[in-house]
Amino acid sequence: MSSSSCLFCRIVAREAPAEILHETETVLAFRDIRPGAPTHVLLIPKEHLRDLRDLENAHAGMVMDLLQAAAHLARTEKVDDSGWRLVANIGPDAGQSVFHLHFHLLGGRAMGWPPG
Ligand code: 5GP
Ligand code: ZN
Repeated sequence: MSSSSCLFCRIVAREAPAEILHETETVLAFRDIRPGAPTHVLLIPKEHLRDLRDLENAHAGMVMDLLQAAAHLARTEKVDDSGWRLVANIGPDAGQSVFHLHFHLLGGRAMGWPPG
């Protein structure tokens, strides 16, 4: 998929607006446009990957960046003590709607388990 047809690639390219909170060489984090919790941040690789099934060993550095960015943002969003969740929706049953790999960082309210 080319960057022009993928919403998150367009956000990476600054061709679509987003409230960007954190950026590394390989990862971008921005607020979800329809927050499901007081803190709802999306973390994505800058490279277009459809979902976790596209990961290869060469992506190890990016995955580390992404997980460290999530831990960093939990602190800066002040949900580190209250608790937070990191979720990837993959495929129809999970409700994936954007097909560029992303993790949701959710926090700021109590959450049920299992998710609905
Ligand atoms: P999924 O349902 O694929 O797991 O998550 C996609 C997420 O992207 C949803 O939570 C949705 O609200 C968010 N989203 C969709 N379009 C936009 C947009 O244009 N900007 C931002 N910041 N988030 C978006
Ligand atoms: Zn993309």
